[in-house]
Amino acid sequence: IKKYGYQPCVNIGTAGHVDHGKTTLIQALTGSWTSVHSQELKRGITIRVGYSDAAFYKCKKCEDPLGYSTTPKCNNCGKESELSRVVSFVDSPGHESLMANMLSGSALMDGALLLVAANEKVPKPQTKEHLLALQTLGIQQIVVLQNKVDLLSYQEALDNYKEITNFVKGSYAAKAPVIPISAQSGLNIDALIGAIESTIKTPDRDEKADTVMHVLRSFDVNKPGIKLKDIKGGVIGGSLTQGVFNIGDEIEIKPGIMNEKKKTYEPLLTEITSLGTAAGIVESVKPGGLVAIGTKLDPSMTRSDSFIGSVIGKPGTLPDNSTLLKLDVNLFDSAVGATEDIKVQPISSGELLRLNIGTAPVLGTVKKIKSKSVEIELRRPACIFEGGNVAISRRISERWRLIGAGIVG
Ligand code: GDP
Ligand code: MG
Repeated sequence: IKKYGYQPCVNIGTAGHVDHGKTTLIQALTGSWTSVHSQELKRGITIRVGYSDAAFYKCKKCEDPLGYSTTPKCNNCGKESELSRVVSFVDSPGHESLMANMLSGSALMDGALLLVAANEKVPKPQTKEHLLALQTLGIQQIVVLQNKVDLLSYQEALDNYKEITNFVKGSYAAKAPVIPISAQSGLNIDALIGAIESTIKTPDRDEKADTVMHVLRSFDVNKPGIKLKDIKGGVIGGSLTQGVFNIGDEIEIKPGIMNEKKKTYEPLLTEITSLGTAAGIVESVKPGGLVAIGTKLDPSMTRSDSFIGSVIGKPGTLPDNSTLLKLDVNLFDSAVGATEDIKVQPISSGELLRLNIGTAPVLGTVKKIKSKSVEIELRRPACIFEGGNVAISRRISERWRLIGAGIVG
């Protein structure tokens, strides 16, 4: 494990319509990595978020893209390869009803793989909606994957390729490489890794700034029937965007939990008891891919992703909890994601919107509108950073549809 002993340095998301092969691809890419997880890791803190980490290797002797692989042995010449990067994957659900989860995951993506099934007409509704979501959240580093090419003739694949390049025109993905693959049969995976390595850069991040971690998942890692003395505290998974955490650090979690007596949310204070990444159990974590932190919290509190959307920092350093969200809004011309596009009407006073603030999906009511600036009262408090991107969704014919983006002002 020492050999791969690096924390993932970048989060790569998946995007694309349901059944286009996102999860199949992530399994193809991460399978070998999960098998090197040590027993200690499994028994210590089982990092479900860590399941989707991969190590990329590059053979020095083989030409691009032949030498890229997910194993230390070159698939092309069989010689030893060098570690290129350890990366984390945030696998998005493609179903339209899970758009809120897709947007939560997108908040942590540094780059994304947009999968398009080659045997279907381009674009399908969530292919459009996901690409729009990536744009909304400022995710510019995109690799487009033309998946399932095993089902097509060469000419059909070329025609489909043209449909894809037409579709991405004018979007963030316009300059993205388009790589034909078969996720299921592992075809052209070396070219895909090569494209990721040259397109999705590891961002510069400030390790000296106040630590900020956005939470994507949380767990109770204890097996039923465990002895009281063996119970482990709540585990929280997510990514640091700046700063570092060490074992023993005091941390504050916002917005925290509901105090039923006072009817308000109160931040939680606790201590880091363990830290896990794809490198195993570590002493400290920095910004980059997915990490998991063990705490002294009652594990029943962190069960089944209950902390999704929370923000963690050192005590006293995070913005105050707030139910007032002020946004500079940009609406799309039309809401995509259904079979037919629907013209987006202006935001109206009193209407209910769904806001994705960081990894947190929160409902809110519009209170004031003055041209592009909109004030929204949130149903529950959130930890809101000035200048952050917020995705705005509206209920249109029984579904939440992405209608625009806002910047916290
Ligand atoms: P997701 O909803 O985008 O995560 O899609 P999945 O990864 O669950 O895949 C949906 C279906 O497509 C599954 O039955 C896969 O086996 C199949 N599939 C995925 N990739 C390929 C591929 O490259 N070729 C073929 N023929 N089928 C694929
Ligand atoms: Mg899937």
